[in-house]
Amino acid sequence: MIKVSDLKKSYNSFQAVKGISFHVHEGEIFGLLGPNGAGKSTTLEIMETLREKTSGEITIGGFNLDKEPNEIKKIIGVQLQTSGFYPGLKLVELIELFNGLYNKKVDPLELLKKVNLEDKAKSLYKSLSGGQKQRFSIATTLINDPKIIFLDEPTTGLDPQARRNLWDLIKNIRSQGTTVIITTHYMDEAEYLCDRVAIMDEGRIIALDKPDKLIDELLATGFEKQKETKGANLEDVFINLTGHGLRGE
Ligand code: ADP
Repeated sequence: MIKVSDLKKSYNSFQAVKGISFHVHEGEIFGLLGPNGAGKSTTLEIMETLREKTSGEITIGGFNLDKEPNEIKKIIGVQLQTSGFYPGLKLVELIELFNGLYNKKVDPLELLKKVNLEDKAKSLYKSLSGGQKQRFSIATTLINDPKIIFLDEPTTGLDPQARRNLWDLIKNIRSQGTTVIITTHYMDEAEYLCDRVAIMDEGRIIALDKPDKLIDELLATGFEKQKETKGANLEDVFINLTGHGLRGE
C-alpha cells in the first residue's frame, strides 16, 4: 500500500531523515516509533503530501508522490491536531464544513455513530472531553472514505479508559479494511495495536518488525528485566478500580 525508498529530508544543512526505506502492507496497523526529534513527523507529513521531501521515491496506493499527489490526497485521511477545529461550531456543522472541503455528502450522524459520538451531534466542539475530541478528529479522517489513515499521537494526554476506547476504535477502523499509520510514544499501545513497527532514531530506521519478533530478538541476546514482572501492573489496578466506562463523556 505504501512504498518508501531512500527517503531523505534536510532542513537547510540539517538532515532530519537520512535515507529510510520501508513498506506498509494493505490492511495493517503500522507504527512509527522513536524519541522526539527522530524524524517521525517529518516522514509522516511527507507521506501525507504536506511537506516536500529532499529526495527518495514514495508510492502510495500505486500512485507516485511526485507525479500524482492529488490522487494520493483522494485516498488518504489525515488527522488534524485537535486545535485545528473551530471550537464554537457544533459537530454536525464541522462535518458539513469538511463535506464541503472534500466535496462529499457524508451523513454527519452516520459518521458520528462510527466513533460513538452520535449523542454529541449538536454539542459545540469546545465542550467535548479530550477523548471525545480525539474520536471526533479520527472521524473526520474517514470522511473521504480513505484507504489509508495517518494518526499522529492520537492518545496523548488521554486517561486510561479513553485510551483503551480509542484503541478499540482504531482496531475497528482497520477491520473495515483501512490501512493505519500511527505514531505514538506509548510502547504498550504500539505493542497492542501495531502489526509491525519501525523504530526511528536520528533520522534512520534502526529496527522494523512485528513487536513480538523485536521482543524475542532482544530476549535472544540474553536480556533480562531487572524487576520481577507481576501478572498485573498499576494500569490494571486503575482500570479494575475505576472500570472500563468512559468518563467525562
Ligand atoms: P519527531 O516527529 O520524531 O519528533 P520531527 O520530524 O518533528 O521528529 O523532527 C526531526 C528533526 O527535524 C528535529 O531535530 C527537528 O528539530 C527538525 N525539524 C523539524 N521540522 C523542522 C523545520 N521546519 N525546520 C527545521 N528543522 C526542523
